[in-house]
Amino acid sequence: MALLADRESRLLIDGELRAGENGAFGTVNPATEEVLGTAADASAADMGAAIEAARRAFDDTEWSRNTALRVRCIRQLREAMQANIEELRELTIAEVGAPRMLTSGGQLEGPVDDLSFCADTAENFSWNTDLGFARPQGMPSNRTIAREAVGVVGAITPWNFPHQINLAKIGPALAAGNTLVLKPAPDTPWAAAVLGEIITEHTDFPPGVINIVTSSDHGVGALLSTDPRVDMVSFTGSTATGRAVMTDAAATIKKVFLELGGKSAFIVLDDADLAAAAAMAAFTTSMHAGQGCAITTRLVVPRASYDDAVAAAAATMAGLRPGDPNAKGTVCGPLISARQRDRVQSYLDLAIAEGGSFACGGGRPADRPTGFFIEPTLITGLTNDARVAREEIFGPVLTVIAHGGDDDAVRIANDSPYGLSGTVFGGDPQRCANVAARLRVGTVNINGGVWYAADAPFGGYKQSGVGREMGLAGFEEYTEIKVIATLAP
Ligand code: NAD
Repeated sequence: MALLADRESRLLIDGELRAGENGAFGTVNPATEEVLGTAADASAADMGAAIEAARRAFDDTEWSRNTALRVRCIRQLREAMQANIEELRELTIAEVGAPRMLTSGGQLEGPVDDLSFCADTAENFSWNTDLGFARPQGMPSNRTIAREAVGVVGAITPWNFPHQINLAKIGPALAAGNTLVLKPAPDTPWAAAVLGEIITEHTDFPPGVINIVTSSDHGVGALLSTDPRVDMVSFTGSTATGRAVMTDAAATIKKVFLELGGKSAFIVLDDADLAAAAAMAAFTTSMHAGQGCAITTRLVVPRASYDDAVAAAAATMAGLRPGDPNAKGTVCGPLISARQRDRVQSYLDLAIAEGGSFACGGGRPADRPTGFFIEPTLITGLTNDARVAREEIFGPVLTVIAHGGDDDAVRIANDSPYGLSGTVFGGDPQRCANVAARLRVGTVNINGGVWYAADAPFGGYKQSGVGREMGLAGFEEYTEIKVIATLAP
């Protein structure tokens, strides 16, 4: 791998690393605002070439039928990433602003390791299932259900956990026999482009099976939603963009898989350890500057303990000062860009305009004039009707809301256009389970349980998405079902 400082990343199209027709664009270190280097800037024609290569690799090669080849390539990718993990770590901290401590988990090592789940699943998957003999309409028939790849997958990803999201699409899509074009976010092109270098140097992926197209222009990625040669779009990002992807994909009736935004609730029941709950909610919201779709950004606490909860959460948040993501102990790094920082600041201004106050934080940290930092901020004094309680802020911002008992807590948690995740803290396990069962969300943490794992499907209800990523369900998203009936003698 090239050194970080020398990097001028290229596109991967049809097995070749090449420059973009539109030249190159800069990628910026969000903690220092320095331009790190450049990424290839693809044109619409480059995207067309990538789609054509993926189409050809799917239609004209044995890739979709050769499970052993696919398993080998995915394991090679995992091993090569592991062999280069320290360079990848430096790249991730520099480009994503990811706190160093997170790179040993969800920001890097976790998703790389999880590639083995995809390879193992493909190896052990029931590609053909005997449905048995029957006489539908009086005709004696032996039936088989076959699972097959969907075809060409267009993968469009955001910047917040780029390795996790890129690999959670690449791994299962390729393991299932699809070919793929990855279009990463313009804010984090290197995290994707570096895969192109690793794939060409260290793996046997045939040309065209995986193509990586970085571009400064969102419209180049949008071609994946409209192009008739693409069979499926797998998108992670904001709900607004997800809606555009779904609309664009309608003309060609593509399969659409969406992982979108969230405004998840952290419910504290009246028999919970309030201090522990409030501290966990505050810590979770501050981690990676709150740039996680499943972060619980509404702390829903018993009305009688509102002030105590605010004090406990504020004490934790005030201790999590935004810091250098390179430093070992940093939990809250920078936001990805000035645009994103200003967007978060506009929500903080809105909180005050809506009648709320800050129990801590509230803006840019005075000691960090450079870098896209925002202080972990606790908003109090508002109800669930406030815009800051309803809209995804995607920053280190937690809003505390009072509830009047378990039913009211469930009502508040579900009173959201989103349905991605949730947390329940309480002393009585049955009560916690009852509340969890009533939440209209895709994942629930009870008293600190961790739902994120390679074998656990992740995704949202309502406007948080369609379908599931990871786990067996995530693998099956990338398959079609074919029933074959043979006339029996
Ligand atoms: P975004 O929606 O602005 O962009 C995501 C990707 O879509 C980028 O690659 C972008 O270039 C591309 N894009 C933009 N417009 C497009 C269009 N019209 N057609 C096709 N592609 C287009 O999101 P973001 O700001 O990069 O990321 C933050 C958002 O992502 C948050 O809302 C967050 O909740 C969400 N997110 C969701 C999950 C999840 O799994 N549910 C995970 C991470 C992030």
